[in-house]
Amino acid sequence: MKMWPAVAAVLESPEATFTLQPVELGPLASGEVLVRVLASGVCGTDMEARELTPTPSVLGHEGVGIVEELGPDVTGVVPGDLVVMSYPSCGDCAGCLRDTRWLCENNWSLSFDGKRGDGSHPVHRDGTPIASAYFQQSSFSTRAVVPARSLVLAPPDIPLPVLAALPCGVLTGVGAVLNVLKISSGDSLAVIGTGAVGLAAIMAAKILGATTIVAIDVHPGRLELSRQLGATHSISALGQSVPEAILQQIPEGIRAVLDTTGRQSSWSDAVTYLQRGGDFAFVTTPEPVETYGFPPFPLFLKCGSLHTVLLGGANAQDTLSTIFAWYRQGEFPVDDIVRTYAFEDIELAFEHSIAGETIKPVLLMP
Ligand SMILES: [Zn+2]
Ligand SMILES: [Zn+2]
Repeated sequence: MKMWPAVAAVLESPEATFTLQPVELGPLASGEVLVRVLASGVCGTDMEARELTPTPSVLGHEGVGIVEELGPDVTGVVPGDLVVMSYPSCGDCAGCLRDTRWLCENNWSLSFDGKRGDGSHPVHRDGTPIASAYFQQSSFSTRAVVPARSLVLAPPDIPLPVLAALPCGVLTGVGAVLNVLKISSGDSLAVIGTGAVGLAAIMAAKILGATTIVAIDVHPGRLELSRQLGATHSISALGQSVPEAILQQIPEGIRAVLDTTGRQSSWSDAVTYLQRGGDFAFVTTPEPVETYGFPPFPLFLKCGSLHTVLLGGANAQDTLSTIFAWYRQGEFPVDDIVRTYAFEDIELAFEHSIAGETIKPVLLMP
């Protein structure tokens, strides 16, 4: 039974801080690959997962690395390949069989249950299995066990911190405008909340030819950055009515609205400035008890559509390939939102992310 040593950031309990500890990975199951992790993005979901995933656990779901070993029945990658680890999917459900793997019925459990689909754990500490296989990768580690079907081959000329910034939040923002809202030339888009997801959506909308791109936030610095990255209008949500401010500047209203905040006011506000036949999409996972108290009547009158966006409605292979091409053409300046941290500074990366000081932290493994 072959096992490999690694150093992982282990979370002992939801309230604890991460500590770097020696662990063992393996053995590789059918379809799995051992990856030497070079970098991993830090995402807001990693904060929420402290409560969602059993502990002790190894989190991290935006890994980038080099394929080291192949388990049985692996196709598509070979040792030495540079890969981005994307979201998990089972391969057997109706969504997966239709090649719409973002609709995988097992996505939630494969992401948050802290184990493989068969209930086993790829990471052990002192000979005892611990919660791992988080998003079927647990990339806050120097090595990761990942199903080959989650891997996307990465171009070696794109910097590692950029690659590690892409597979979750940025994929979601880009996927929302590309695959769900289907932004096209001359279109109008409003983005509520300008974190990594919102800023990625703004950059993508500019590339797709939107001529009106409205950024809405409470932080002046973020609004300024939104302008630099492609927003044509910036609206502060502080001390004024957002719908009034938008309709004053854009009387015809907005065709597509993307909410990244999950705030109830986003819904009622958006209906006011949405054009007839327009689309409203949201990306934030609501609390199971959330009702939003949303009146559907105005949306009905406008024949508006409501979309939930999970995983950017994206086949990761397709949408990441699009982003790689944009980046290489110099059109997608995602570097502007990334800040790198040494692996041992993982707590600092989280602190800066929570404080809004860093938009997209990326950990660099030794
Ligand atoms: Zn599936
Ligand atoms: Zn994420």
